[in-house]
Formats: sequence, structure tokens, C-alpha cells
Amino acid sequence: MGYDYSDLLREAESIKERKVKIFSAGKSIMGKDILCVKIGNGNKKLFLSGAYHGLEYLTSAFLMRFIREYIDAVEEKKEYFGYDVSSIYDNVTLYVIPMVNPDGVDIAVNGLDITNEYHRKLISMVGIHSFNNVWQANARGVDINHNFDANWGMVATKPSPTKFSGEYPESEPETKAVVELVRKEKFDMLLAFHSQGREIYYDFDGLAGAKSLETAQKMAKESGYAVCIPKGTASFGGCKDWFIKEFGKEGFTVEIGYGKNPLPMSMLCDVYEENARIILCGAMELGV
Ligand SMILES: [Zn+2]
Repeated sequence: MGYDYSDLLREAESIKERKVKIFSAGKSIMGKDILCVKIGNGNKKLFLSGAYHGLEYLTSAFLMRFIREYIDAVEEKKEYFGYDVSSIYDNVTLYVIPMVNPDGVDIAVNGLDITNEYHRKLISMVGIHSFNNVWQANARGVDINHNFDANWGMVATKPSPTKFSGEYPESEPETKAVVELVRKEKFDMLLAFHSQGREIYYDFDGLAGAKSLETAQKMAKESGYAVCIPKGTASFGGCKDWFIKEFGKEGFTVEIGYGKNPLPMSMLCDVYEENARIILCGAMELGV
């Protein structure tokens, strides 16, 4: 059991008549639309994204549930976890890409599809393991969260289930879709959701300002998560790394939940409130 691209499409369909605009930010290697949901009327812009990694589909399920419950609260003019969401809605526009890597998620959830043109290559990359336990990359074995242009470098030397940075920065269409949207919309803050660890990363290469640490500490207080600075390969070529380096704004990686990937779907209830609070806290920091 998991949360695959068809689940995402179904949930997107179910909210399309509500206070959202849904559009495609680009196409994956296998031609799937990388959906983005826009919500709100504000001048400030907060970018949320998840499932850069195949096994981390719980982040997509989380973001879609957040969108639904957030619109419910806005429509009912209710407080949500103590936050004045009507005011957030009027001041901050959320852009959400719940599943940056839909091909990778489908491989991790459903195994290999014979129509995948990389079929034989992919089998050779996985060896004796099952796709459901190891697949993090996109459909041609590139790890999207090592493919951004921030101290980009080779971690793995060839296409693999995880940690291959690609032939060059932004070589993958999934990376490009995110980069182009970020450049176009000039976001004020970025939150990239991964699993797992119950951690918040806020820095890249010492470039984050004092405000970023302060915001991370507030988010940590809201969620019970730990504030962390990455060490080693976790710090190469990630989306929030590139965002901090390129724009000097606040960018965070949130590692939801705790356990071994893929985290079970039954964990969604446990991780929901703590991560919803992280998003709401981030939105408030933008000046509501
Ligand atoms: Zn990840």
C-alpha cells in the first residue's frame, strides 16, 4: 500500500472546484504532469513541495490532506490549530507541488511497469532488492534532490536507486520544473518535505541568515522536531540548498515522521498535525 500518482490525480480532481487553481509545472521523464496547486490571495508567496524521492510518498499524501483541510478552515472561517487561516489566506499565497517525482513514486509503490523505456536498465540498477524498498530516484536513475545547482557533484558514479546526481545540474525535467516555477514566482520562503527523521534543516554552506535559524526554532517548537545542519552528502545539490544559495531567502527541508522508508500510510495521522503546524508557522513568519 502506498500513495501513487493516480491517488494524487484523484485527490486533485476532488478539490478542483474549490478555492484553488491547479496547473502543470512541467512533465516528468515519462510524461506525467507535475501538478501544482495554488491557494490564497496574498502578495507573499510560500512554496511547498514533496516526494522528491520515490519512497517518500507519505509527504504527498500529507500535502494533499493539508490543502483540503486548509481550504475547509478558510471556507468555514475557523481557526486551524490556533492559526487565523483567513488572514493567512489573504496575505500569503501557497504554491504546492505535492509530488515532484511522480515516476519515482510509481516505481516505489507499484514496481516496474513494462512500458517504462528504461525497464532493463532499471532492473540492473536494483539488483536483488525490490523497488518498493529502495527506489528514490526518477525513472532513469537520477536522484532529484542531488540534481540542483548547489555544490553539485557526483555522489554515486552512475544511475542508481538513490544518490546519483545526474550528468550535470538541472539535467532532469523534474528538477527543471521546480527551478522554473521558483524563478518565475520569486517565492519568499520554501519548504521541501522529505521523510524521515523528525528534523528541520535550515542552512546551506553557512549562507542562511539569523532569521532562518529563528524561524526553524519556531517551527521546531510547534512540531517537536529537531533543528539540524546537514553533514556530508545530504548537503549536496538539494532543492532548499539551491534556493538559499540562489536567492538568499529562507529555505527549509522538513524530514517528516520517524522510521524506515517507506513510512507506512497509517503514519499519516501521527505526522499530520506537527507538519501542518510547521507550514502555518512558516506562513505567519512571512508577515501576516
Ligand atoms: Zn528525501
